[in-house]
Amino acid sequence: MPPRSNNYYTATLNHDTDFPVLQGTHSVDVAIIGGGFTGIATAVELAEKGLEVAVLDSHEIGWGASGRNGGQVTGSLSGDAAMRKQMRNHLGAEVDDFIWHLRWRGHQIIEQRVARYGIACDLRRGHLHAAMKPAHMNELRASLEEAQARGMGDAVTLLDRAAMRQHLDSPLYLGALKNTRNLHLHPLNLCVGEARAAQALGARVFENSEVVEIIHGPRPAVVTAQGRIEARQVMLAGDVHHRLERKQLKGKIFPAMGGIVTTRPLGDLARQLNPQNLAVYDCRFVLDYYRMTADGRLLFGGGANYSGKDSRDIAAELRPCIERTFPRLKGVDIEFQWSCAMGIVVNRIPQLGKLSDNVWYCQGYSGHGIATSHVMGEIMANALTGTLGQFDTFAACRHIKVPMGDVLGNPLLAVGMWYHGMREKLL
Ligand SMILES: Cc1cc2nc3c(=O)[nH]c(=O)nc-3n(C[C@H](O)[C@H](O)[C@H](O)COP(=O)(O)OP(=O)(O)OC[C@H]3O[C@@H](n4cnc5c(N)ncnc54)[C@H](O)[C@@H]3O)c2cc1C
Repeated sequence: MPPRSNNYYTATLNHDTDFPVLQGTHSVDVAIIGGGFTGIATAVELAEKGLEVAVLDSHEIGWGASGRNGGQVTGSLSGDAAMRKQMRNHLGAEVDDFIWHLRWRGHQIIEQRVARYGIACDLRRGHLHAAMKPAHMNELRASLEEAQARGMGDAVTLLDRAAMRQHLDSPLYLGALKNTRNLHLHPLNLCVGEARAAQALGARVFENSEVVEIIHGPRPAVVTAQGRIEARQVMLAGDVHHRLERKQLKGKIFPAMGGIVTTRPLGDLARQLNPQNLAVYDCRFVLDYYRMTADGRLLFGGGANYSGKDSRDIAAELRPCIERTFPRLKGVDIEFQWSCAMGIVVNRIPQLGKLSDNVWYCQGYSGHGIATSHVMGEIMANALTGTLGQFDTFAACRHIKVPMGDVLGNPLLAVGMWYHGMREKLL
């Protein structure tokens, strides 16, 4: 097996994986392409229901965004306004309850799974959604009111500037919404832990096994260089990392590259900067997000580029943001830096659908994927076993396909993001 690339998560992985390369022909109920949260969460659900499942990843389990993200499990859905508008046709007056359920269901699944399978992934509760200007405080007040009206008032508190300074030693913020239902965790340890749980339930997991073709038909199959899996159903969960089924999927999602760094372990300073070890993200469209790791490093992510290419020096890009946020970290050593692509959808509604009678796909969480992928895993497992309600609600949503897809998509997105960035600076 080739070694995993070096980043903070791979350096602190509990158990490296040694799932085999697919060889020969096998037969299962469901073959899943992609061993990130979407594929693995669906596999766990299906294996718990007693189905024979195989998951294939072209690299290692958790190689994609699932093993390289910020680890913040938020109740925010990036596409909720669009969802509310489009899903009203399908759900009528129930749409608001449905979206509220979606916001929090992923947290429940993750907490239960971690407890049930004893997955060590540094799971902690508590986030600060931080305001940088008065308009942000108004947004947070509206979120507080919604949470209170939904009976979640005990989990949310609005902090003013003085209260915020007691939670975070940073001069940047006017206040924040503190939310003790949101979680943060080590995503790679969660993803690999879930894959091991799926395997213990009987699922077959294959690494370094890129699917090069999906064969459609009454009994579909997935084909790799050295093997083939025949199945009753196939699910494509490769997000933005695959080139399969271009005829139907080209232009539906776009890559945005996100960069993350971790500092050296900060010792007692970590507790002084962030005494309650809360995960923090700010209210801007292109935001900074950060938290302390279990060994006391600052893990800091921010920015995004839409070229589909890695940024050359992520540490150089993020250091000024870190120093602005925490002046006491001026000149701090940065020990790990990495980047990864995430799938962005124009209207930000996760894309669920069918490519043929028994070939399904699920993708595109626009940077809010840890909780969402787990909800989608549940929705997909239900759909694959015949309960279609929630799948149909998503599948009925309309999505824009940008002409010339990946070629023109990135520059168009870059212009869109530049526009949002400018608006934010000017308003
Ligand atoms: C830098 C960054 C920070 C983020 N921070 C957060 C955060 O803090 N909170 C949050 O909620 N979300 C965050 N996200 C988003 C979140 O990580 C993703 O939405 C989520 O992990 C997507 O999961 P997935 O399983 O759909 O895709 P992925 O995790 O990308 O997995 C897809 C897998 O499919 C495999 N694959 C692709 N093609 C093939 C093929 N042909 N054959 C076999 N396998 C294939 C790939 O190797 C890959 O492992 C972040 C994303 C990035 C990039």
